[in-house]
Amino acid sequence: EFSVARPTAVETAPVEPVFEGNNDIWLEKLPLELRYRIRIDEPMSAHTTYKVGGPADYFFAARSVDDCRHILAAVEAVEIPMIVAGLGSNMLVSDRGFRGLILNIGADWTGIEKLNIEQVAKRYGLSADKIRAELELLGRGDYPGDLGSDPVFLIAQAGTPLVDVAAFARARDLAGLEFACGIPGSVGGAAIMNAGAYGGSIEQTALFSVSLNRKGELYLTGAGDRPFSYRSSHFKNAGAIVTEVAFVVRPGDPELIRSRTENFTQRRNRSQPLDLPSAGSVFKRPRNDCYVGPMIDNCGLKGLRVGDAQVSEKHANFIVNVGAATAADIRNLIALVKKRVFEEYGEVLEPEICFIGDFDAE
Ligand SMILES: Cc1cc2nc3c(=O)[nH]c(=O)nc-3n(C[C@H](O)[C@H](O)[C@H](O)COP(=O)(O)OP(=O)(O)OC[C@H]3O[C@@H](n4cnc5c(N)ncnc54)[C@H](O)[C@@H]3O)c2cc1C
Repeated sequence: EFSVARPTAVETAPVEPVFEGNNDIWLEKLPLELRYRIRIDEPMSAHTTYKVGGPADYFFAARSVDDCRHILAAVEAVEIPMIVAGLGSNMLVSDRGFRGLILNIGADWTGIEKLNIEQVAKRYGLSADKIRAELELLGRGDYPGDLGSDPVFLIAQAGTPLVDVAAFARARDLAGLEFACGIPGSVGGAAIMNAGAYGGSIEQTALFSVSLNRKGELYLTGAGDRPFSYRSSHFKNAGAIVTEVAFVVRPGDPELIRSRTENFTQRRNRSQPLDLPSAGSVFKRPRNDCYVGPMIDNCGLKGLRVGDAQVSEKHANFIVNVGAATAADIRNLIALVKKRVFEEYGEVLEPEICFIGDFDAE
């Protein structure tokens, strides 16, 4: 609970400062420039691909590590709950919103740089040999080909859309990020979730991740530290804020890169309900060889609805918003699907989607 009263709502305008007065103790802990950028009672439906979610008490779009440090110091001091949101493509926010601060790392904090091995070494204060040693430790999974003797590094800021990094690589004939061409999250969100598709994943290409802990201390984590696991990461478990990722790619055959990208795009268009709001796959695979979509389909649940939330007819592991679904509709449908799959298969499905806010009694 807050130790300070909630401010009254103010009209929010995208460009004008929205902070009025200084009736809130914790806001006074922020430098003036940051205070003016705090939005109050921000509807989270505007920041999630599900297009649902009530107001966040406070919403701040970060632009830098310094911004995050100021926010962290202020919220720590008064124990205001804080959650990071990227592009909101893997979250369900409660209809009642979030009592606390949403630290958004998205459109206001983007950028991609192409560096060589010496430049990366300099950036992170490491030797080129250490970078080469780290490359050996990168989990390549079933991704074809090796990195060769001339790896290229793409340094992406956490708010950058992952698809932009994939497009940046493609435009320069760099291979290794084709799998990411249709994943609608941010670089930070993708690292947190170890996003992946079609045999590729973040852990196969993220050589270094930069993150902040809740004390505002900056960490550099190499692939050798094994920070990633299936649709999760050490950063997620530790509540860390991912600020930057160094992807390693390699010069490739332009025709092969193009055809892989096209193939993945076509497969996605064919199999996923991309015309309706969703947050991608709802449940994780219980095991590597255990596909959730067919299980849900075999239970006869395709098309099942709670309010305007529906188990997609196209892909049973997607729950789509077919109109004016509430977060409660979606949450209740998720619970129903989970129950039916358990009854039929004895499998306990774990959601991949992150739930934000209070869902009790909804
Ligand atoms: C149509 C569709 C298709 C999809 N296909 C795929 C797919 O093929 N493969 C796949 O893996 N996923 C897929 N997803 C899910 C989603 O796009 C990914 O999980 C993505 O990586 C989430 O990124 P985000 O920025 O949207 O994260 P958000 O939804 O904003 O957040 C997800 C989690 O990460 C945390 N977070 C976000 N950014 C940061 C940060 N910088 N630092 C710390 N924590 C952070 C949040 O607190 C939350 O816990 C799909 C989603 C949709 C809507």
